[in-house]
Amino acid sequence: MRITDVKPFAVWVGHRNQMLVKIETDTGISGWGESGVSGRELAVEGAVKHYREFLLGRDPMRRGALWQEMYRGQYFEGGRILTGAISAIDIALHDIVGKALGVPVYELLGGKQRDRVPTFATTTAPIGPEMIEQGRQLLDAGWIAFRMSSENLGIGTDNLYEPRESIAKTAEWFIKAREALGRTAVLGVDYHHRLSVAETASFCQMMPPGTLDFVEEPIRDECPEAYEALRRMTDMPFAIGEEFASKWQFLPYIERGITNYARLDICNVGGFTEAMKVAGWAEAHYIDMMPHNPLGPICTAATVHFAAAVPNFAWLETWKSPWAPDRHDDSRIFPKVLDVERGSFRVPDEPGLGVEVNEDALTEPFRAWEAPHLHRRDGSYTNW
Ligand SMILES: [Mg+2]
Repeated sequence: MRITDVKPFAVWVGHRNQMLVKIETDTGISGWGESGVSGRELAVEGAVKHYREFLLGRDPMRRGALWQEMYRGQYFEGGRILTGAISAIDIALHDIVGKALGVPVYELLGGKQRDRVPTFATTTAPIGPEMIEQGRQLLDAGWIAFRMSSENLGIGTDNLYEPRESIAKTAEWFIKAREALGRTAVLGVDYHHRLSVAETASFCQMMPPGTLDFVEEPIRDECPEAYEALRRMTDMPFAIGEEFASKWQFLPYIERGITNYARLDICNVGGFTEAMKVAGWAEAHYIDMMPHNPLGPICTAATVHFAAAVPNFAWLETWKSPWAPDRHDDSRIFPKVLDVERGSFRVPDEPGLGVEVNEDALTEPFRAWEAPHLHRRDGSYTNW
């Protein structure tokens, strides 16, 4: 079997751009992958075109060796853009190999450890009573784990963001949410790198112990030592890693006991090949995987196969909810996808990823989009 084409598609699907890759072979079998690095899809598309130059004619069965060649084959190795491209290609190669062997992808990863993959959801209402009501709806619909209103933590009009105002209001309503939703609900929050070490410590200290089960990425990740300082100031479990672009970025967070849930993104970390190595490393430290999954149906399917195959697993992110349609999908493009029932995915048994893509429907062109550039009242910039 030989690779005959590597086709990048930076296209608009649902409510956002998706960076898809199709790999074709001389057997007629093709595979699909997806890349993360949201907001910089065109850079990833360019990297895929570079890799296409030497992938044509190669054997897709040698996906582990091709990963090494893509990662190490140029002097400027690694980085989020290149690894985002490698991720999509690696996922597509696994889709091809699964189809060629007639087995679901999880069979290539050590076999199935579970029949269903539990998920966590995210409330979307502003911080306040409606947020708690959405939490009740999630519990009624079968979820036990969810994040509360992560995209609305105090972002004002004109992208104004004041961290101290955000943490004060958020802590107050999270205390009410815990009282209303009970002890069996798993409650978390994603602070999206928007706080400092001191602000995160204050936020954690504003709530009684047990109010939250995890805080996701309260500070930026470039400096593990900053997280270690924060760890000494709070006993809050942390969920970290969705932007990590290699096993080496996970290394200090796992080995130094900084993260308690590994927020791996299979479309950023380097596909199945790299994700399985991170999962093994986390397993050795009794850390469960809690994968990032904000993209499209291919990312979801790839992550479900990964989740099926690893023993150390908590919950997979989903944007399904009882109150609104999932805007990450388009049935014209994806006639067959995996779906959530009572808060979990059934692990598919079809060969490959188990997702179908209608290439002819990928007609909505890429749309220029920038994440909100948040600023403080004094005019300075802060993270989105
Ligand atoms: Mg996050």
